[in-house]
Amino acid sequence: MINVKTLISTTLLSFLAVVTHADMPHHAIPGGIVSVPLAHSGDTAPKVEFQGKPAMTVQNKQGEWIAVVGVPLKQKGSVEIAVNNKKISLPIIDFPYEEQHIEIKEKRKVNPQKNDMTRIGNEYNQMMPVYKSFSHDLAPDWNAMLKPTEGPYSSAFGLKRFFNGQARKPHSGIDIAAPEGAPIKAPADGTIALTGDFFFNGNSVFIDHGQGLISMMCHMSRIDVKEGDVIKQGDLIGAVGKTGRATGPHLHWTVSLNNARVNPKLLLKDDQPK
Ligand code: ZN
Repeated sequence: MINVKTLISTTLLSFLAVVTHADMPHHAIPGGIVSVPLAHSGDTAPKVEFQGKPAMTVQNKQGEWIAVVGVPLKQKGSVEIAVNNKKISLPIIDFPYEEQHIEIKEKRKVNPQKNDMTRIGNEYNQMMPVYKSFSHDLAPDWNAMLKPTEGPYSSAFGLKRFFNGQARKPHSGIDIAAPEGAPIKAPADGTIALTGDFFFNGNSVFIDHGQGLISMMCHMSRIDVKEGDVIKQGDLIGAVGKTGRATGPHLHWTVSLNNARVNPKLLLKDDQPK
């Protein structure tokens, strides 16, 4: 059983440890990841839920269970998780993501036509079940991802975006500038959950890494995997391109945890360039 007092004090300690982290904005922000030690060891994970759905639980090297929760970009004030049905509130600090203004020549990619809207709706209905899925049988190595392609980061996560002067959704992934045809590798083990050619995202691949952790790769020139393929970290999944709404060749990489888009850099192995 979890001792609630210990749980709350370790939660607070963990939060304080996180906020003093010097080189990155701490993770308890919209688009961040909060990891909460649960003061519980043993073979069975405590039942952890976020917004009424299962949340990721992993064991650290000492065998202690940790809840790992993605904070939605829209979240304000706090996130609430339930551990064995007991609620815990974790404070979230606002973060001033910058604005980005982009000019798109193909106006239809900014203001889609009616038949485009039908297509966009259908694509949304394909993507959302993937983002909301939760594979119980995998315990992802969630914070040891590899950067999926070589190249400089060309657009940061969380930017408040304006296309041709019109406000649109914030940038829910990171962009890596790379030449057309550059290899894209799987950032972590997983299963290919969905592939397709999407209106905004172009040729895209969704990887289910387990327990609600999903990667999406976009704007690809070529897809080398198919739905259902089981892949290992570093496996080739396709090539960089500029399909969909893109001003030039780059890889857009989204990471989603519990259906919250989070900053992929927070999941990279420590020795990776961030
Ligand atoms: Zn992007």
